[in-house]
Amino acid sequence: MLPVNATAARSTHAWRNWGGTAVCTPNRVLSPSSATEIADIVGEVATRGGTVKTVGAGHSFSPIAVADDVQLELSGLRGLVAVDGHRVTLRAGTHLHEIPGLLAPFGLAMTNLGDVDRQTIAGATSTGTHGTGLAFGGISTQIVGATLVTGTGDLVTLTSADSDLQAVALGLGALGVVVELTIECVDEFRLHAVEGPETADTAIAAFLDRVQASDHHEFYFFPHTDCALVKTNTRVGADTPVSGPSRIKRYIDDELLSNKTLRLLCEIGSRAPRLVPAINGVIGRALSPRELTDSSTRIFVSDRDVRFREMEYAIDLDAVPEALREIRALLDRREYLVSFPIEVRAAAADDLMLSTASGRTSGYIAVHRYHRDDPADSDAYFADVEAILTGFGGRPHWGKMHTRDAEYLSGVYPRFDEFLSVRERYDPSRVFTNDYLRRVLGD
Ligand SMILES: Cc1cc2nc3c(=O)[nH]c(=O)nc-3n(C[C@H](O)[C@H](O)[C@H](O)COP(=O)(O)OP(=O)(O)OC[C@H]3O[C@@H](n4cnc5c(N)ncnc54)[C@H](O)[C@@H]3O)c2cc1C
Repeated sequence: MLPVNATAARSTHAWRNWGGTAVCTPNRVLSPSSATEIADIVGEVATRGGTVKTVGAGHSFSPIAVADDVQLELSGLRGLVAVDGHRVTLRAGTHLHEIPGLLAPFGLAMTNLGDVDRQTIAGATSTGTHGTGLAFGGISTQIVGATLVTGTGDLVTLTSADSDLQAVALGLGALGVVVELTIECVDEFRLHAVEGPETADTAIAAFLDRVQASDHHEFYFFPHTDCALVKTNTRVGADTPVSGPSRIKRYIDDELLSNKTLRLLCEIGSRAPRLVPAINGVIGRALSPRELTDSSTRIFVSDRDVRFREMEYAIDLDAVPEALREIRALLDRREYLVSFPIEVRAAAADDLMLSTASGRTSGYIAVHRYHRDDPADSDAYFADVEAILTGFGGRPHWGKMHTRDAEYLSGVYPRFDEFLSVRERYDPSRVFTNDYLRRVLGD
């Protein structure tokens, strides 16, 4: 019998991810609010040979969160559990955007973040969500403890002393239902951001030096143009005054001008692709420099209003300029007319078994297509870029579009087999599997 609260959950419904690239209609949707309820659900489903898939905020582009049988959503498992110095334990369903408010009374902050904060902490870390900064790993590297319900229905608590945490901290949802995560935070800080336009040639040529010389550096380059938008953030103390455009002016710039204008231009581009190079040129020339200081979260995170599909690969950092030159040559041939900029970031090597930066200082190249662009054309573009990046031994972001399988991935992840043996112990009967996990990890 399923726990009463869990059975009282929403009735079955069609589920769709943020990017519209994955859909499913689970047999049941359950909303457990305790580890005991989760263990009961997993036990019941395992006994009848079914599957359980926990969903976060549905912000993965890959079908990693697709539930064939029982979908668990953890909106009842949110918030702070404990604070011990810089170590903060959060319930797994807590959204990243809720965390700054939870940490503020303790003067703490997360050390690095990606571009958006809509994801849940367990969803973001399960796929290796990362930001940029050569001294920083992805969000999973901030994890120093985890509690999860495994496929055998056991409640397991791990600390950094347990080598299994190097699998669980970035577990693709394949090892269990994460109930709580403990992350190592830092004292709250502000970021001084310098953003501005530059030629793509300069942005690419300077990338390796700039990521070495700065805390957080990234750039976007606009296909079919020589324009790039370069962003460099420097960590400063929490007492550094907030400066730059007012929040209202930033809202107008980011939301009304950037998001709304971008949507309009993408819409025009998707209906009349031949206009895309001219539109990108207009956007590139309209970019203007700005400088601002604000809380770390407000600088790291932006609103992403315009829907898109995305593929991202991690490659050896030193190979980034050469890989970008090959992608630019592909774009210059104009087989694909791409309105979305290409994003370029960097991260430190880490020791997590399935981190895209496992054992390798990494550069990240992300390509996007507007969600209304012709899907076949978008897939073909992604396939051509993927061929370039796999040529560099690339590792695809687990939560973004890619076509790689276990055979390829075992060749680019030195600790792939170690992860598989943890999976064998944590989920021997594959309660947590789905088609995506069968493809990338094997049966
Ligand atoms: C607009 C946008 C911007 C993005 N920006 C970035 C970025 O800057 N950097 C980056 O690296 N990525 C980025 N991503 C990708 C995104 O961060 C990841 O795909 C992330 O996994 C999404 O988190 P989620 O909560 O939506 O998880 P979901 O997509 O819902 O789930 C992801 C995986 O986590 C598992 N999972 C969720 N909760 C649990 C749990 N409690 N226990 C076990 N498994 C669980 C799911 O089963 C699934 O396997 C972006 C995505 C979008 C749509």
